[in-house]
Amino acid sequence: MKIRVLGCSGAEMPGHNPSSFLIDGVIVLDAGSITSTLNEKEQCNIKSIFVTHAHLDHIRGIPFLADNLIINKPDIRFEVLSIKPIIKAMKDNLLNSTIWPDFTDIPHPKDGIIKLTELKENKERDELGYKITPIKVNHTVPAVGYLVVDKNGKSLFYTGDTGPTPKTWKRLKNICLDALIIEVSFPNKMKELALMTGHLTAELMLNEIKSIKCMPKKIFITHPKPQYLKQIITELEALKMKNIILLEEGKIINI
Ligand SMILES: [Zn+2]
Ligand SMILES: [Zn+2]
Repeated sequence: MKIRVLGCSGAEMPGHNPSSFLIDGVIVLDAGSITSTLNEKEQCNIKSIFVTHAHLDHIRGIPFLADNLIINKPDIRFEVLSIKPIIKAMKDNLLNSTIWPDFTDIPHPKDGIIKLTELKENKERDELGYKITPIKVNHTVPAVGYLVVDKNGKSLFYTGDTGPTPKTWKRLKNICLDALIIEVSFPNKMKELALMTGHLTAELMLNEIKSIKCMPKKIFITHPKPQYLKQIITELEALKMKNIILLEEGKIINI
């Protein structure tokens, strides 16, 4: 499985793009940066976008991708998948013909560029040969992480945005992950704000890791606030865990 990091930042600034991970060129986990980092051909290759939650920094590229396709490639379709409340939030508040055109109805009412698909929590879906399962995490709005297992049995879990989420790790107890992408948004001194906003600090993340039964081979950190990046890097280094790696935009992870 080749995972290209399109965006892994907890805010948007020049050089810091919101969350998006492209798997083998066709599947996307979160859509914060798909249209700001991928060229037109790469955008056309996207088949499925799995959304962790409806916060803008995770869905922002979806309306722009639809808009790009209708201009030049109106026959291409892509699917946006998530659990019911997240799909509903996107339909009601984004693709609502007010904030943006409803591309689930364009160019034809029953054949829109975007197909919205509801997933069930904990139910595995076979998508283009990958087994993908949404698993609930704790955030301020309905949110899931995704377990992705490829044809070779390589496994990834991506948390999206989450605060402490013990039930998630219980649900994953029977699997030894090849890679975990987990968020650290704030420095340790901002623990209270992190907890209040459904995020983690390096120390909180370490607590989560400790409750995972089988230590993931590699742990990639995503979603740091760029304003606190230096401090977060220092605090991650202080953990002295060789398998913890801070993600960088543009990097490719092979698992
Ligand atoms: Zn969020
Ligand atoms: Zn976020």
